[in-house]
Amino acid sequence: MIHSDARQTITAAAGRAAPLEAGGLLLGWWDSDKVIVRSAVEVVDPAASGTSWIRRESFAQQALDRAIAALGHPWMGYVGDWHSHPAPCGASAQDLKSIRSASRAYSQPLLLIVHRCDDVLDVRAARRGRLQTVLEVTA
Ligand SMILES: [Zn+2]
Repeated sequence: MIHSDARQTITAAAGRAAPLEAGGLLLGWWDSDKVIVRSAVEVVDPAASGTSWIRRESFAQQALDRAIAALGHPWMGYVGDWHSHPAPCGASAQDLKSIRSASRAYSQPLLLIVHRCDDVLDVRAARRGRLQTVLEVTA
C-alpha cells in the first residue's frame, strides 16, 4: 500500500516542479511480496528537465539519513525511487531499464513509482534484474 503521506509528498513535489520532472526516494518495507510505502522524500536534481530526473547520490543519501532518523520506524528503509512525468504517460522504456539494472544491487525488490500529470501513479517493481508484478498495491 502507498500511505497517503507518501502520495501527498509526491503529488505536491510534482506540482511544484512542473513542467520539469521531480523525483526522490520511497521509504517503507517489504512484507514478502507486498510493499508498504510509508513515506516519500524529494531529492532535488538541479539539472532536471521536462523528460529527465536523475538521482544525485550525495543528496539522496542525506535525504535518506534524515528521513529514517525522523520517521524512526525499525523496519523503515529504502524501497525504491519515484519521479514525476509532466505528461500523461507512465514508466518509459528507459525507466524500466534503469529499475531492472538498479535492482541487481538489492536482495529485495526495488520499486518505481511514476507520477503522471493526471495524478495517476504507475507502480513498477523489479527484482534481481527482472520486472515483477507488485501485489497488493493500492494506488
Ligand atoms: Zn520517467
